[in-house]
Amino acid sequence: MDDLQFGTRNKRGDWAPKEPLQIASSWAKPFNLMKFLRFIPEYLFPWNAFHMATALLYWFYVVPPVETLQTLAWSWALWLYAVNVAAIFVMYGSVELFWYVKRKQGTRFKYNGKFPADQPSDVFWFKSQNIDNFLRSFFISIPLWTLVEVIFLYAFAKGYVPWLTWSDNPWYLAALVLLCPVIHEVHFFCIHRLIHTDFLYKWVHSVHHNSVNPSPWSSLSMHPVEGFLYHAVALWHLVIPSNPIVAMFQLHVAGFGAVNGHIGFDKLEITEDTPLESHAYAHYLHHKYFEVNYGGDGLIPLDKWFGYWHDGTKEAEARMEARFEAKKARANAKRG
Ligand SMILES: [Zn+2]
Ligand SMILES: [Zn+2]
Repeated sequence: MDDLQFGTRNKRGDWAPKEPLQIASSWAKPFNLMKFLRFIPEYLFPWNAFHMATALLYWFYVVPPVETLQTLAWSWALWLYAVNVAAIFVMYGSVELFWYVKRKQGTRFKYNGKFPADQPSDVFWFKSQNIDNFLRSFFISIPLWTLVEVIFLYAFAKGYVPWLTWSDNPWYLAALVLLCPVIHEVHFFCIHRLIHTDFLYKWVHSVHHNSVNPSPWSSLSMHPVEGFLYHAVALWHLVIPSNPIVAMFQLHVAGFGAVNGHIGFDKLEITEDTPLESHAYAHYLHHKYFEVNYGGDGLIPLDKWFGYWHDGTKEAEARMEARFEAKKARANAKRG
């Protein structure tokens, strides 16, 4: 595909989409029924449908029987960890292998014209973004993901929280499933904004931001505090009446869904003319500029409401610069 039909490339080789980022079309003003109807398939496919499919596969083929879950044991916790590792290795690893190692698409639709492997840096373990991000994902974040999974499965199995059944509450649970991406967006925005405060940024979140040019392995490359808070979104299902499959879906939206913001390409060319939209640009801009786009790509436009939204345009750039200047002035005034 010709990426210059869809965007522009600067002297450094960085590609940017022509169209500014849009918040979810369900927020169009005035309300537009056609746009809203068009939003529904975008909302479900392919990503949320994929996360639901993996949640069901887990529930029916991976999660042990309830009697087993009632006793905490390393055996089933390690089994869940092993499956999570294998699943992430295959899912994130295949994007890494084809788009970052084999570079099947070159830099077409790639926001940053360089590949992390070509830029060794001292901020990373072994000076390598790939090795650093890989180790942090598999030995820090995925164990914490599994910990959250063990906590809610155990709580449901022991009857510590209500376990609603699909036969008694089909409409409520279906509505809750549809709300999961919204819960994710709000939870992520709040914890993410929190770890961007000076102290927590320095000690916690800077680990994730070492990757200014993220690749899939960067998705879960986190400090342990962030790794736990991020996946803890599934624990909301111990607070609101729910069901373990819905909690599992919520967890997968976080764990598997983290890759979306870190794909680095606007479109993945699955074949010559079937592109897969990555929805990565909003979070790519977050990695580039740090203090913009704390949430996702505008399902709940919290960034817009709080004035952090960067849609890739020159106007957004100017607004951001003005905000940074004002912040600097405030800091200087305090010091002075
Ligand atoms: Zn990120
Ligand atoms: Zn951040």
